[in-house]
Amino acid sequence: MVAEYATAENITGKFSYPEHANACVQLREAAERFLTAYTGNFEYLVKMQALAKLSEGQIKGVLNCMLADSRRRSAQAAKAAAEVPTKSGLTPSQTPNGRYALVEDGVMVFYRVNKPKDGKWQGYTFLDQLVGAYPDYRRVPIKGQEKTYTLTRIAENPQEAMTRFGHESGSCGKCGAALSDPESLARGIGPVCATTLGWS
Ligand SMILES: [Zn+2]
Repeated sequence: MVAEYATAENITGKFSYPEHANACVQLREAAERFLTAYTGNFEYLVKMQALAKLSEGQIKGVLNCMLADSRRRSAQAAKAAAEVPTKSGLTPSQTPNGRYALVEDGVMVFYRVNKPKDGKWQGYTFLDQLVGAYPDYRRVPIKGQEKTYTLTRIAENPQEAMTRFGHESGSCGKCGAALSDPESLARGIGPVCATTLGWS
C-alpha cells in the first residue's frame, strides 16, 4: 500500500511521513529510486543526490518533491490536452462563454463555461456543473482531466450543446434571458446571442 502510494501517478494531497518501520524502508527505497532517476536541476534534489544516506527528514523532503513532480506532470498533460483541436476546429479552451447541456449516460447535464475577460483570472477557462433544477442550481467546479474531457465534448459542437441547453432550460445559454418568443424557443437561443456567436 505504501509502495503503491509512493509510486502512483495520480497522487493528491501532501505526503505525511508514517512512523511504521517497514513503511520507512519502502519509502526510503522509493525516495532513492526517484533520486537515482532524477535528471533535473532543482537545487534541493541535486544536493540530496550527492548524499550517501538520507535522514528521515530528507526522505520526507525528497518524497514531497516526487509528489509535486507527479502533480506537475499531470497538470501539464491536462493543459496539453486542452489545446488539441476538436473536430469543430475549436480547442477545448476555445469553447465560448455560456451554458451548455450534454447527455451523459442518458442523463441531461448542464454546464457553465466562464472565461473572465479581465482581472487576475483573464485567460483562464472555468467549468462548472450546474446541479439542481435551472435556474435554482448550485455550481460545482469541474477540474483536471474531467474538465478537459467535458470541454472537449462541448467544443466539438458548441452550438448543439448550447441550443440543447436552451431547449431544456427555456433560457438563452449565452445571456441567461428567458426564451419567450416561439422562434427563439424553437432555436434554443435568443436572436441577438445567435448573431453574436455567428449562429444565425
Ligand atoms: Zn441571449
